[in-house]
Amino acid sequence: MIKDKKMLVFSAHAADYVWRSGGTIAKYIENGADVTVIVMTFGVRGESNGIWKKGNQTYESVKEVRKKETAAAAEALGVKNIEYWDLVDYPINIDQDLEDRVLHTIRKYQPDIIITHDKNDILNPDHNAIHELVWRSSILSNSDGVITEGMPTTKQMKIFGFEPHQTEISGFVPNQFIDITSAYDKKVAAMNCFEGQHHLIEYYKQRAFLRGNHARRLSGNKEYKYAESFASFYPVVSEELV
Ligand SMILES: [Zn+2]
Repeated sequence: MIKDKKMLVFSAHAADYVWRSGGTIAKYIENGADVTVIVMTFGVRGESNGIWKKGNQTYESVKEVRKKETAAAAEALGVKNIEYWDLVDYPINIDQDLEDRVLHTIRKYQPDIIITHDKNDILNPDHNAIHELVWRSSILSNSDGVITEGMPTTKQMKIFGFEPHQTEISGFVPNQFIDITSAYDKKVAAMNCFEGQHHLIEYYKQRAFLRGNHARRLSGNKEYKYAESFASFYPVVSEELV
């Protein structure tokens, strides 16, 4: 049941979680799940070209815009639990402090589900670095011998990579489609908050439409209009074939 689930989302930049999993996040929240979003950077250096192009910008001025945008988007999705880590992007420096922080965060929230970047984004080294970091930390988090004071180890959680921007040329193969029809309007409202990446909004509307087509075709359910796709890091385990 969705309402019993704890979901933890690691987003390398300010808007990644919205484009790629905003509908799923909003749907889980609508249905009573406990969802926490970690915005690791505001994407000032790597994903704010629309703002830099206006001219007369500084790192701090761009960051302020991005911070407001992602806060408004999170609100539109219904996200109540959000952490802004405010790291520098392009590149994100994966040092021991960040390794420890991700591990502690996983143990703190004890998620049933983690959503983050999938293993290969051909045009974004930060996404790949965060994929690797989150996967590695999740493995460490499940190990009793990795001791963190006052924080219990986790049980094996489900981990999903969301769809990269350049799907085919990044070799992304989805194996989960989530119907987001009920939450689609919230996703569009959240996407509309990002002035710095306005060009992506139509792209991700079309992507939700396309994935909705796949979801209908594969399920036979004609009610599915819009969907998001994910790649499970691990094979599905269940008591019957699903
Ligand atoms: Zn990104």
